[in-house]
Amino acid sequence: MKAVLLDRDGVINPLVYYEEAGMIDAPFTPSQFKLFPRVPEAIRLLNDLGLGVAVVSNQPGIAKGHLKPEVLKTFDRLMLSGIHAAGASIDGVYYCLHHPEAKDPSLRQRCQCRKPEIGLLEQAAANLQVPLEECYLVGDGIPDLLAGTRAGCRTIFIGRWKCEICQFTEAPNSHPALVAKDLWEAAQIIRSEMTGITSLASLPKCASTQA
Ligand SMILES: [Mg+2]
Ligand SMILES: [Zn+2]
Repeated sequence: MKAVLLDRDGVINPLVYYEEAGMIDAPFTPSQFKLFPRVPEAIRLLNDLGLGVAVVSNQPGIAKGHLKPEVLKTFDRLMLSGIHAAGASIDGVYYCLHHPEAKDPSLRQRCQCRKPEIGLLEQAAANLQVPLEECYLVGDGIPDLLAGTRAGCRTIFIGRWKCEICQFTEAPNSHPALVAKDLWEAAQIIRSEMTGITSLASLPKCASTQA
């Protein structure tokens, strides 16, 4: 494998619960943007394995009027400075800013980059100069898994994969190849696949998941 494509919200930084709206969404303000524990260390491990690392993320918040483009840039600075502080690095950050119901007409479109479409993955892989078949795709949502599978990536789901959910999704394209509780564990799994070194007692796995 040559590279790892990472979803952002729910993988690198936590989602935020908006009580007034009763919804969970991406952070909208800089104070809401935090890295999950051990994310910089996980990325450094991927760097040390010689893997390219890129972020591929749907960010419709600007289109929906939740935040200004400058705030997204601030998130990037916070994300990259936290990662660099641990001696880790990211090769590219790719966002789809579109949404079919955007308030801003320039962002209102059915694009080829919004996951589950694969345009963003193609763009990242092209710039990394690696084939998509040699990329891991790490995400916490069904659109991540659909895009990753369609693109031929090896998919890793972050979170608890519930088999009850499987039957309601576009099986089998949304089934992850692997499941990890966070990016640190995902990086350990990637290391064990690439080197044969395992530091985990057992890898959590859904019975219906096919590797
Ligand atoms: Mg996500
Ligand atoms: Zn797009």
